[in-house]
Amino acid sequence: MTIQFSSLFLLLTRRAFFKFSFISILWGYDGDKGPIRWPILSPDYHTCGDGQRQSPIDIDVTNAIALPVGFDYRPIPIDLFNSGRTIQETGNDGCTLTLDGEVYRLIQFHFHTPSEHTDGGIHYPMELHLVHRHPVTKALAVVGVWIQPGVEQSELAALSQALPPTGERTHNTHRVNPSNLLPAEQKMMRYSGSLTTPPCSEGVTWLVMVNPIEASVGQIEQFHELLGNNARPIQRSGF
Ligand SMILES: [Zn+2]
Repeated sequence: MTIQFSSLFLLLTRRAFFKFSFISILWGYDGDKGPIRWPILSPDYHTCGDGQRQSPIDIDVTNAIALPVGFDYRPIPIDLFNSGRTIQETGNDGCTLTLDGEVYRLIQFHFHTPSEHTDGGIHYPMELHLVHRHPVTKALAVVGVWIQPGVEQSELAALSQALPPTGERTHNTHRVNPSNLLPAEQKMMRYSGSLTTPPCSEGVTWLVMVNPIEASVGQIEQFHELLGNNARPIQRSGF
């Protein structure tokens, strides 16, 4: 299974496991390539139009609970890639998430500005997605973390300093600790949804944290400047 995401790519690597390839840019977030037209841009994207469990959704935070999700996150070396698309085929076993007794590996994280999931119809200015994959079934479990204006976020500050020019990447030159990107209180909303980018594949387990983390206004502005508006519109409400 291949994964495509549009945003700032933070590719997590340990060894030379990753294969990269780049595809032509078929889709985007506005105009002729915008989300409404995704289903007709390629036969591969039909699920974006006829899928039954599409993401993102509006979250009713009163339904959130403290799920028994085990995060085993630690400082890891990362590849930083500034904007574009990538296909990533192998995982990273440095950080894991345990859900329903199954261990998923963190393979990538990235950001959206504004948030994709909404809180009672309201967008946060930014959302982090931590993408995990089961090593055998290849099933995906994605943790969503809202980011609100507040104090400076130390991991984002380190990432900003390390960011290469657009279209370029760094290789294992920086370390991040993803646990610093999780809120202290981990109540979350679990639902079955999809990738929020083409091909909008379903069967993705979403765990959306309802307690946001903070980043400074300047940091949020910097990421928005880099990414533009890369949030797919809400697909469903009432959760
Ligand atoms: Zn995402």
